[in-house]
Amino acid sequence: MTEFMNSVVVHYKELALKGRNRPWFIQVLVRNLRSALRGVDVAAVRSVMGRIEIELGPGASWAEARERVRDVFGIANFSLAGRAPHDFQALAARILADLGDRHAASFRVSVRRTDKRFPLTSPQIEREVGGLIKQAKGWRVDLDDPALDIHVEMLPEHAFYFFGKEPGAGGLPTGTGGRLACLLSGGIDSPVAAYRMMRRGCTVLFVHFHSYPILSRASQEKVREIVALLTRHQLRSRLALVAFGEIQQQVLLASPPELRVVVYRRLMLRIADRIARKWHARALVTGEVVGQVASQTLENLTTIAAATTMEVLRPLVGMDKDEITNEAERIGTLPISNIPDQDCCQLFTPRHPSTRARREDVERAEAALPIDAMVETAVTGALIEDFRFPMKTEKVDS
Ligand code: ATP
Ligand code: MG
Repeated sequence: MTEFMNSVVVHYKELALKGRNRPWFIQVLVRNLRSALRGVDVAAVRSVMGRIEIELGPGASWAEARERVRDVFGIANFSLAGRAPHDFQALAARILADLGDRHAASFRVSVRRTDKRFPLTSPQIEREVGGLIKQAKGWRVDLDDPALDIHVEMLPEHAFYFFGKEPGAGGLPTGTGGRLACLLSGGIDSPVAAYRMMRRGCTVLFVHFHSYPILSRASQEKVREIVALLTRHQLRSRLALVAFGEIQQQVLLASPPELRVVVYRRLMLRIADRIARKWHARALVTGEVVGQVASQTLENLTTIAAATTMEVLRPLVGMDKDEITNEAERIGTLPISNIPDQDCCQLFTPRHPSTRARREDVERAEAALPIDAMVETAVTGALIEDFRFPMKTEKVDS
């Protein structure tokens, strides 16, 4: 940061925000940016002529602000920017001062005007300002693939200038897409599924099934870490930790081995359904993928989803494992997912689960179980935790 570069110019995804809802999307994005920057010295966040300006205060760290802004959904790109007068001489002088002794093999000036009534066209301004910079620096102009792209945006009252653009997280602003409840295991897939829906503007609530005290607390620690990480994007999260060990033991005693996995999954969906409704979520999300494991054949997926009347969204349904793993690495959940733990479903799962569990057979197996009472106990006993970014976890009463 320099004396004059104390704004962040944020560009949102134009196309997605067209139409009558546009002002509302922008308002939500402005609010999300304010929340995400809590604790950073910010003088103002405002919407100005098709972009958002974050005006940093004297105590702000650009490195910290950048980290925060990078994770906010609904942003195409952003840059640390300076404000300057429209006058070319003054504008070029300000740019040159901020370039300092920076070197570039080639450069170009790219101008955008928000107000087309401005007396000069964008190419004219580019030539004028570019000429002055070339004169001072001696750099080669490269219009197609410059090493340094100097952006100038002409607003009615002043100009913004900035060097290059940082990619934003894309997607839609959190809070514009409704609520979902994601069944979050400690595995690789479900965190990616949750991320994908969050990126579409949805607020995702998390439900995790654990087998403590039969198994260790490791899976709970893992999902807490995953939720904390994902909360950087949606700023507030809620996690329900559901005890599933006893339920599994009941299933183990009453159901044929090959059907158990499907019965477990159906119970998970029933419990998640109840919790989701309590939280006013509209649909469930899982990390299921067609054909990835025996329980995820098309037949089994259908039989599993039949346990709930809620829509079951499976954002990863057609992805390959390596594609999902790459995405988990990019969003940062992979190392947490890779921490070894004992998954609750590995514990009670037979070697050869059915790949074609028919609904009638599963329902017959379930008739031997007090399903409603099992679901009720699990829902009532669920432990609820709230997460906030940029703040720490707090425990609350459900
Ligand atoms: P993941 O990597 O997400 O665990 P997976 O490939 O291991 O997925 P399964 O174990 O068959 O697949 O689980 C399928 C889906 O069921 C998961 O993506 C998740 O949405 C849900 N699920 C499985 N186990 C749990 C659990 N213990 N708690 C919450 N949800 C779970
Ligand atoms: Mg799993």
